[in-house]
Amino acid sequence: MNVENAGSVKNHRGREEGLIVYPVYSRRSEGLSIGINLYPDRKRCNFDCKYCEVFPVASNVPFSQTVMESGLRKAIAEASARNVPVKDICFSGNGEPTISADFAPALLAAASVRDAGAPGASLVVISNGTGLLRQDCFNFLEYAVRPPVSARLWIKLDAGSPAWYEKIDGCAISFAELTGAIKRFSRDNECVIQTMHCSVNGESPSVEELCAWAALTAEIAKPGNVKLAQVYGKARPSPHDPVCAALPASSLEERAGALQMAFETAGITTPIAVYE
Ligand code: SF4
Repeated sequence: MNVENAGSVKNHRGREEGLIVYPVYSRRSEGLSIGINLYPDRKRCNFDCKYCEVFPVASNVPFSQTVMESGLRKAIAEASARNVPVKDICFSGNGEPTISADFAPALLAAASVRDAGAPGASLVVISNGTGLLRQDCFNFLEYAVRPPVSARLWIKLDAGSPAWYEKIDGCAISFAELTGAIKRFSRDNECVIQTMHCSVNGESPSVEELCAWAALTAEIAKPGNVKLAQVYGKARPSPHDPVCAALPASSLEERAGALQMAFETAGITTPIAVYE
């Protein structure tokens, strides 16, 4: 999709202005993605990623499912009027979607709007995976990734060791417990694994870290339910800048190569996508 064809679709400015529904051009979706923001008034997340792109929000208006549904219908209609296909409807916004009490009802409502207006669009949930530590959320996501909702869960896995996880994701939740929950989920349910590759305080992930991450990702993918492994670089500003910095394309390719080797050793055919 040409960005100019998408009208006002340019970046995540709408999210930062406190919008609940914000169309963007997504490099990972390769087209128009309609973002759903459950936190229009302030960031809410149980991670503190040093590359996080969520800036302070210029709004004090809380989330409203009614506003979400009407905004989503409008965004779909505007895309349709411009002949721009909606590639996905994506729950990410200013924080971790699964810690919101609105998450489950909003996802189901978005699925209904999708079915009515843009049945070809994927319904994506971008998550740091911590919702999988709560049984109610685990059960809901198991339901949601199957028809009729057919959501796609993109789970963050930035590290293969507790040390790099703490450094890049700034999270106190046990790495072993979190990755254990991701393994349990991916054993029986489809998902996508996504990994940020950047330096933190001038330090790149070590060879040992890359090997540990590749082995862990292969373990998660082994049952065959990981549909894609995404490795992406830092491409947007962060309020933490300059803590994290983009690494050269060759470094991303090396990381993807390490994963490819781990996949081949384990007999895994999951595709790997790299986004600079
Ligand atoms: S999980 Fe997402 S929203 Fe939360 S700190 Fe990390 S990048 Fe930001």
